[in-house]
Formats: sequence, C-alpha cells, structure tokens
Amino acid sequence: MEYTVIAESSGDSLHPITAQLVGAASALGSSPTVVVPGGVGADEAASIAGVSKVVSVVGDCFVTFDGGAWATAIASQCSGVVLAGATPIGREVASRVAAKRGVPIVQDATGLAAGITITRPIYSGKAVETSTVTGECVITLRANAFEAAGAGGSAAVNVVDQSADVGIAVKEAIAKASERLDVSEADIIISGGRGIGQKENFAHLEEVADMIGAAVGASRAVVDEWGMPHSMQVGQTGKTVTPSLYIAVGISGAIQHLAGMRSSKYIVAINKDPDAPIFGVADYGIVATWEEAVPALKAALAAL
Ligand code: FAD
Repeated sequence: MEYTVIAESSGDSLHPITAQLVGAASALGSSPTVVVPGGVGADEAASIAGVSKVVSVVGDCFVTFDGGAWATAIASQCSGVVLAGATPIGREVASRVAAKRGVPIVQDATGLAAGITITRPIYSGKAVETSTVTGECVITLRANAFEAAGAGGSAAVNVVDQSADVGIAVKEAIAKASERLDVSEADIIISGGRGIGQKENFAHLEEVADMIGAAVGASRAVVDEWGMPHSMQVGQTGKTVTPSLYIAVGISGAIQHLAGMRSSKYIVAINKDPDAPIFGVADYGIVATWEEAVPALKAALAAL
C-alpha cells in the first residue's frame, strides 16, 4: 500500500510533525510521497530521509488557511494511506480529504503497526483503543508520538498549480489577537492556573516564555474566571498539546487538565502543595510558590 504524507508548515518552514509522519510511514516499510500545501517547505520535505517524491501544491487558496479550499486543492494528490498531523490544521484538512475521497479516517493515533493496526487514547486518555483498517484511509498522528525521520533524502519536487482549479475565493486573513505562539504549535509551553493569583501575574510567565520561545497556556479556571482567551486553555474542553516541555505553574492537575497535556514529553510542575495531583504526572516537581520559583527560573535562564 502506498503512503502519502500531508506536510504541515510553521511560518516559512516545515513543521517538525512532517518528519514524524515520514518516520511513521518509513517504520511500516513505505517510502511516502509528501504533499506540501502551498509549497512551504517543499525543499525541506525533499531532504527528509525515506521520502520518494514531493508534490508541492501551489495556488491562491493557500494564502490563508481554509480547510475546505486546501482539501479541494490537495485531495487528488493524496492516495493510499494518507497521514497528517493531529494538529488543528492537520485534523481539519485530513477529515475533509477523507470525505472527498470517501475513505475512513482515524484521528489522533499514538501508535501504528503493520496491518494497519492503530492505537489511540480515548476518554481523555483513560483508555487506549486499538482498531484495524484495511485499504485506503486517512490517519492523523499525534505530535511527538512517532520518531522523526532524519535528513539525507534527495527526492524530486513536482509542482502542481491548483490556482485555476480551486473555485474558492481566498478569504481575508484573520488578524491574530496576539503575536504570541499558539499552544497547539509550540514545542515548549508554560501554563498558569489559579495559583498564579490574578490575571496580571501572567506577565511573569510571558517573560519566561519570551526567554525560551514558549507559548503561554492556561487552566480552565483562569480562562473562565479571569477572562483569559479560550485559545490558551489546555485540557479536555481546551486544546490537547504534546510539546517537548510543559511547565505547569499554580495548576492543581485536575483530570480534565491532564487530559490535554499528559502526553507532553517532559512535564515540570511548580506548586506550593506537595500533594497536588499535577506532581503525579510531572517528571520534575518543584514544591514552592510561583513567587519563589519563577524569579529563580528567570535568573537561571538569564545566566545560560
Ligand atoms: P485550582 O484547582 O484552584 O488549583 C490551583 C493550584 O495552585 C493548587 O494546586 C494550589 O496548591 C496552587 N497554588 C496556589 N497558590 C500558589 C502559589 N502561590 N504558587 C504555586 N502554586 C500555588 N480544566 C482545565 O484546566 N482544562 C479543561 O479543559 C477543563 N475542562 C473541564 C471540563 C469539564 C466538563 C469540567 C467539569 C471541568 C473542566 N476543567 C478543565 C476544570 C478542572 O476540573 C479544574 O477545575 C481546573 O483545571 C482547575 O484549575 P487550576 O488548577 O488552575 O485551579
């Protein structure tokens, strides 16, 4: 069965999830074709080891994100088993590609085995579902759950111009409320909870975030009570994130919060209560008030 990877970009370059999708396909013995929406990062995609071909799909519709337009533009280039990232963009494009091709989709896989046997967490991560798919399908894979393919590829890049074929007007770009990194895109997240005391104290987390290129996240308590943007909320009714590093400050670790971040590679918790449940999932725990720990963290980072 042939594999197609739908690449994802971040700014002007390829999002790391793309190499992870290629790595997952390669682990199943495939040399996938990588379809690059908008052509961003096409040359980078060609240099990933194991890629057989890159299809750079360009066109007016890629100026801004529109899941319907993007799926219309790339669907004809996707065949066999199609892999995309379980990111907000990947999930939307993948489900639309599956609908256009009339094939099943499985979202948010954390494991793939020949067959194809797919494992994924369900019920907020309390159980793991195993399902088997035969034939053509679309699967989205959770970020950082699969080993990335390395560099060293030299695949050919074919350019397909869909400008004339995609009859969907380019939508106006929606100005982002802030220049800050989105939690669903960031590799490092520092999140604050009610223990931070008040909304204004998030400025301290933002300072740390600026030092380490992190996004700032929040628990639902502060989103609901202090009016922080819902886009910052991590958890069952917020975003599911899988960064390399998640720093939880003044967050108790309620099951609904853990549902959105427990798959992070490394979790650091700062909480004054040694019995806070967040310490149950943390790789590193600091029992201290944020007023003590955050300035110390800032000083240590500044000294690096
Ligand atoms: P708290 O539970 O009040 O915890 C504050 C923590 O800060 C405590 O552990 C305390 O020891 C610590 N602290 C206090 N002062 C300091 C200090 N000075 N320094 C350091 N630590 C300090 N929650 C989410 O986060 N995301 C969701 O998506 C979500 N979805 C939900 C969906 C449903 C259906 C329901 C019922 C609930 C949901 N919740 C969600 C809410 C969740 O149950 C918790 O209420 C919420 O996560 C608690 O937020 P918190 O940890 O910030 O606050």
